[in-house]
Amino acid sequence: LIQLFIPLNFMGMVYREIKQALIDISDMFAILDRDPEIQDRPDAKPLAVGDAAVAFEDVRFSYNPDRPILKGISFTVPAGRTIAIVGPSGAGKSTISRLLFRFYEPQGGRILVDGQDIAAVTQESLRSAIGMVPQDTVLFNDTIGYNIRYGRWDASEEEVREAARLAQIDRFVESLPEGYDTPVGERGLKLSGGEKQRVAIARTILKSPPILLLDEATSALDSFTEKEIQDALDRVSRGRTTLVIAHRLSTVVGADEIIVLDKGEIVERGSHAQLLAAEGVYAAMWNRQREADEARALLKQAEDER
Ligand code: ADP
Ligand code: MG
Repeated sequence: LIQLFIPLNFMGMVYREIKQALIDISDMFAILDRDPEIQDRPDAKPLAVGDAAVAFEDVRFSYNPDRPILKGISFTVPAGRTIAIVGPSGAGKSTISRLLFRFYEPQGGRILVDGQDIAAVTQESLRSAIGMVPQDTVLFNDTIGYNIRYGRWDASEEEVREAARLAQIDRFVESLPEGYDTPVGERGLKLSGGEKQRVAIARTILKSPPILLLDEATSALDSFTEKEIQDALDRVSRGRTTLVIAHRLSTVVGADEIIVLDKGEIVERGSHAQLLAAEGVYAAMWNRQREADEARALLKQAEDER
């Protein structure tokens, strides 16, 4: 019996290892939330980045054929401008950012960067032109320094520290015994959602790309830190083509155009002032948030006075 047991046990071990490896791979795709089948076309050329204008032309997309997610979306982000996308959760906002990063491909319409269909260029060249701060940042199982430097491998230590400072993660990192060499993830330090987001912001600041894609980039931060980091992000986005997805409307007031997305359709668009004057969906969202903010401020005041 023991002779039979040992090999079985050994095989169980191998099986577990293989299974773990498979889980790791599928997790990676799940975490990155991307279609693993996207491949460069045989004739794919590198993206020729000029002033980095972005255009969505009648883009249609669904994850599953029976459920359309984007139902013909058109908008442009002129070079160096900031366009904001707002709307209820589930509207399709993050899907727009995943399509621009080409984690998925639209079933209809086109996405252009400087007039080039992103489906026809190499993924590597497209992604090196875009700095993305996703809604949920996943870090590499490596050091904090590696995770920041991933933005630009040839950055000096000084530049890494400066990016960390702008993203307000420098003091935290420098308080660790191993500093930037501290491993993060499974075998190392566990970072909070806000800390991971700041690492992603530092990485993006370091990368300094022509196109910025910010998906609720400050959502995991408390409101004080959010304000500070928003200032840093505003500085990086100045003069860069920026697509910002926001849940807190105060961060989109200055956008050149605000697009209100609902159930995969653009229901309103215009500047903050225009949308308020229109007294539609955006104005209602704005008033609701303002009331909530005021209530929160009053509550805080009452607590402070106690
Ligand atoms: P938002 O960012 O506006 O909250 P998303 O773009 O993340 O919305 O999602 C839009 C819709 O697509 C949601 O109903 C969501 O459940 C669905 N969805 C998102 N990712 C996937 C996926 N990988 N597979 C299937 N459905 C998805
Ligand atoms: Mg989202």
